[in-house]
Amino acid sequence: MSTAVVVGAGPNGLAAAITLASAGVDVTVLEADDSIGGGVRSSSRSLADGFPDGLVVDQCSAIHPMAVGSPFLNGLGLERHGLQWKWPEVDCAHPLDSGDVGLLYRSVDDTAAALGADGGRWRRAFGGPSAKFDTLSQDIMGPLLRVPKHPVTLARFGVPTVLPASAFARLFRTEPARALFGGVAAHTFRPLDHPLTSAIGLGIITAGHRHGWAVAEGGSQAITDALASVLAELGVKVETGVRVTSAAQLPPADVTMFDLAPTAVVDILGDRLPRRVARGLGGFRYGPGAFKVDFALDGPVPWKNPAVGGAGTVHLGGEFGEIAATEREIQAGRMPQRPFVLVGQQYVADPGRSVGDINPVYSYAHVPHGYTGDATEAIIGQFERFAPGFRDRIVGTAVRSTTEMSVYNANYVGGDICTGAKDLRQLVFGPRTTLQPYRIGVPGMYLCSAATPPGPGAHGMCGANAAAVALSALTR
Ligand SMILES: Cc1cc2nc3c(=O)[nH]c(=O)nc-3n(C[C@H](O)[C@H](O)[C@H](O)COP(=O)(O)OP(=O)(O)OC[C@H]3O[C@@H](n4cnc5c(N)ncnc54)[C@H](O)[C@@H]3O)c2cc1C
Repeated sequence: MSTAVVVGAGPNGLAAAITLASAGVDVTVLEADDSIGGGVRSSSRSLADGFPDGLVVDQCSAIHPMAVGSPFLNGLGLERHGLQWKWPEVDCAHPLDSGDVGLLYRSVDDTAAALGADGGRWRRAFGGPSAKFDTLSQDIMGPLLRVPKHPVTLARFGVPTVLPASAFARLFRTEPARALFGGVAAHTFRPLDHPLTSAIGLGIITAGHRHGWAVAEGGSQAITDALASVLAELGVKVETGVRVTSAAQLPPADVTMFDLAPTAVVDILGDRLPRRVARGLGGFRYGPGAFKVDFALDGPVPWKNPAVGGAGTVHLGGEFGEIAATEREIQAGRMPQRPFVLVGQQYVADPGRSVGDINPVYSYAHVPHGYTGDATEAIIGQFERFAPGFRDRIVGTAVRSTTEMSVYNANYVGGDICTGAKDLRQLVFGPRTTLQPYRIGVPGMYLCSAATPPGPGAHGMCGANAAAVALSALTR
């Protein structure tokens, strides 16, 4: 029987373990933390003063348009293992100072109707690709540089993704549509006038119109718990509290998968890596950081525009031009006064996360890489701008700075929650310039974290793809 070791138990490590074990490989997972799940965990324990026991707070991933449509996760039948998806009435809201709001619904038609004059343009941009998303995902949920399964569908979707988000946004004439697109494009953590910055926004919007911006009932932890149940069924051994820092700690195995940041793999393997691979992975670039603040709020967020209250996700960043400016600032290492803030109101779709009138409100600001300041007031300021009176409803605050984020999970270097800058080269090739992004030049060893294609998210596709490459090498 072949054997495998998976280092790191984030969704990609778990996906790799499940894929290998399903093929009959004897798998052991080694995880540094006391619990598995990496960026897909929740807590219902008291986190800070004012957080009542039972308030469910997602520690990292919160909203899952890519996971709910993930070919890998969907193939596992995770409902049998307790996972239930929930959808808010509005997927995403983008309020503006004018009182207007851009509203993204799962339905393209509902979104178009809400966008008024830009509705037709939104429908033309997203109607076709979202109807074909499941076909499209066979090509976009893996390395970009390979022979596509559906070249025509991919080409139609792919051409606009090459554009900077600032160029794509010019398609729209009204600010709610432009800002709504810009807020989603900002998930790439890049200056929006750089090439390919449309890609992640187009991918998330298209996936959302097909599958919705779902949240996991009971918290994102439910995704990890369901994966853990599959692992148990397959007999995978999981050891927590094991931080791998050197090659000497690695048990002998036919396959070793690293669900880690690329630079950590260089540190662990040292001169076992071929020099060109060490140079490539050692030069891997990390992006700006996230500064996370969770609030326990007495009642709902008092949004100026009540339509925002029904949204699972809210982007606080003002008009497109303002978002573009703040993303440019953080890239340059400067903290903007009014940063782009992503807000999660998961309880709107999943009321069981609240305790009585106390709701968990999730937020993080985009900040420079390794930012050492405190962004809490800047975040509260953005809430107050669009929801005056927010501050008065806060009964608890739990903060995780960029440094604390990288201690919580070593893959988030400098608070970079994407495990790597999504710049042109890394978006096209992955962790180093190669057509084989999962290979690291040592027979039997592979990288499978979110630094590899298709990139960040709780979808598990990086791990599943890397494990498929490992399996084909094993059987060759
Ligand atoms: C604040 C935040 C918000 C996010 N929001 C969303 C969202 O809404 N939707 C979404 O889809 N995604 C979101 N993400 C991204 C998503 O969580 C990640 O892309 C995903 O978890 C990456 O999975 P992974 O398996 O590659 O790595 P990770 O989940 O990062 O897991 C890596 C694991 O490896 C372990 N590890 C690290 N070093 C070692 C070592 N030396 N030895 C042993 N173990 C080690 C870590 O402890 C961790 O458990 C968010 C992330 C963060 C941080």
